[in-house]
Amino acid sequence: MNLERYRVLLVDDDEDDYLITADLLSEIDGTRFDLDWVASYAEGLEAITRREHDVYLLDYRLGGKHTGLELLREAIRSGCREPIILLTGLRDREIDMEAMSTGAADYLVKGQINAPLLERSIRYSLRANQNEKKLAQMAEFDGLTGLPNRHLFQDRFAQQLALARRQKGVVGLMFLDLDRFKLINDTLGHSAGDKLLTIVSERLQQSVRESDTVARLGGDEFVVILPDINAPQNIILIARRIIKKIRQPVQFDIQEIFPAASIGISLFPHDGSDTETLLRKADMAMYQAKASSAKKYAFASDSLNKQVSERFNLEGKLHRALERKEFIIDYQPQFDLRSGDLVGGEALLRWKPAEHVIAPGTFIPLLEETGLIVPVGSWVIQTVCQQYLAWQKKGFGALRLAVNLSGRQLAENDIVDLVEQIMLDTEMPEKMLELELTESMVIGNVQHVREILHGIRSLGICLAMDYFGTGYSSLNCLKHFPFDRIKIDRSFVANIGINQNDEAIIRGIIAIAHDMGMEVVAEGVEEEKQVAFLKDCDCDLLQGFLLGRPMSVKNFTDIMQTKCQVDGP
Ligand code: C2E
Ligand code: MG
Repeated sequence: MNLERYRVLLVDDDEDDYLITADLLSEIDGTRFDLDWVASYAEGLEAITRREHDVYLLDYRLGGKHTGLELLREAIRSGCREPIILLTGLRDREIDMEAMSTGAADYLVKGQINAPLLERSIRYSLRANQNEKKLAQMAEFDGLTGLPNRHLFQDRFAQQLALARRQKGVVGLMFLDLDRFKLINDTLGHSAGDKLLTIVSERLQQSVRESDTVARLGGDEFVVILPDINAPQNIILIARRIIKKIRQPVQFDIQEIFPAASIGISLFPHDGSDTETLLRKADMAMYQAKASSAKKYAFASDSLNKQVSERFNLEGKLHRALERKEFIIDYQPQFDLRSGDLVGGEALLRWKPAEHVIAPGTFIPLLEETGLIVPVGSWVIQTVCQQYLAWQKKGFGALRLAVNLSGRQLAENDIVDLVEQIMLDTEMPEKMLELELTESMVIGNVQHVREILHGIRSLGICLAMDYFGTGYSSLNCLKHFPFDRIKIDRSFVANIGINQNDEAIIRGIIAIAHDMGMEVVAEGVEEEKQVAFLKDCDCDLLQGFLLGRPMSVKNFTDIMQTKCQVDGP
């Protein structure tokens, strides 16, 4: 027979009471009660916080300075939702009343307790508790989708706003509505409509982070609370992910439909400071989104909408930039600190659509977000290798050329094959190509990245770690990954002569790198005093505006002519 089983905790300072209670519980037929016992207020509170029991029995008299009633109060305050029964004495009538009004499920008078009474009290408390939980669920969750309903949404949103107010944070609110939902309901029937709503609610939940709340306000209206928004771009990414996910087909008997959603977005504190205002503005923005055929999402704030459309515009142009040959590569020289020779160059991507030049800080993140960095990044490697060969043909000595890689390229399965193919096609001598990576690209999936980096290394290509010292585990990265060179971030170099700590860090980085057999490049060298300090620390290579800004192929060729020996004719 399958026995019902409950875990019971008794908080009582008297061991005899524990033994009696254990005896009484063992007399009860058909149910197994596993009794645990702790003797003090502190242990009781600790055990209750662990939430391991189905029901709690608290003795009013706990020996020390605290009573069972205080423990009951504290347990409820800390969020305990399981039933608590207080055990009191014969003359504690007032305490019984107070216990009930504080939230005890029941009270039992010690000395009068027998097995049937104890059983009845526990069973009754458990049943009442289950009903309460069911009612709370019904009051707060949507029956169809299981999502929080409007009531719980308002509660959670108010909590997030209060938190953001204290922490000066930004909270995003998305208002989402399905396009042509009424038509689906009218033509395919209500059960099809219900199925669609359930599927949409699942897709919504899959598209957001665990800390975000998805709720159904009613009908085909959903909201998403997005706490901790660092930048509006992050919301755009989430909105796009949701729109894309919802757009996947849904099969109804013989008919396949492609659901679509429109999203309006408001932000606390930019668009308002209370639930009602933010909800209304997100709702209004949603109508604007419905009207725009392209994006399907809109912000409540005009300035954000403007930013988004500019981005959208730029993104459209970026998609065509490669075929329109709008990308070019500048090179920034790198010098050997000891000999003063020009020994290499860093390739830096530039985008020059007809009208103007767009800063790398604007278009490179966009290339990364759209995934275009993968083809464009391959083009950069290929172009740099071809450029190397062109310089070789003109008779210039060997210069190592560095290319920045992006995390997206590293995540592509075939990056090693791709680089190998480019090297073969262009006949690039392997030692002359260097790939620059950042710490954020390599931490995370250590094993996978290590395989890729060893793969690249086995082709003979050099690896450099960019922005060294700015991350949280720069040193750890050196331990795990095979770098040939590290580039000290320019924020440290800028502080030479200003901040002794930064100077000590530079000295330390150089010593560690040399011990591990790596070379060090100092980035962002702008002043003579920096060169002197770096020389004193035995740094290997320098790069920075003082020695040469990023420049066109033509200008770089000119400085090659003066700064490095010419082998050629
Ligand atoms: P980065 O890898 O740190 O590249 C060096 C950046 O520092 C360049 O900015 C350069 O102009 C700047 N710089 C060099 N010397 C100095 C100096 O003395 N003082 C100051 N203040 N700045 C200096 P740029 O060209 O704007 O490039 C920005 C970033 O864009 C690069 O930073 C790199 O992370 C990324 N990037 C550039 N080209 C590519 C590419 O082909 N692929 C990828 N994935 N990223 C690229
Ligand atoms: Mg770099």
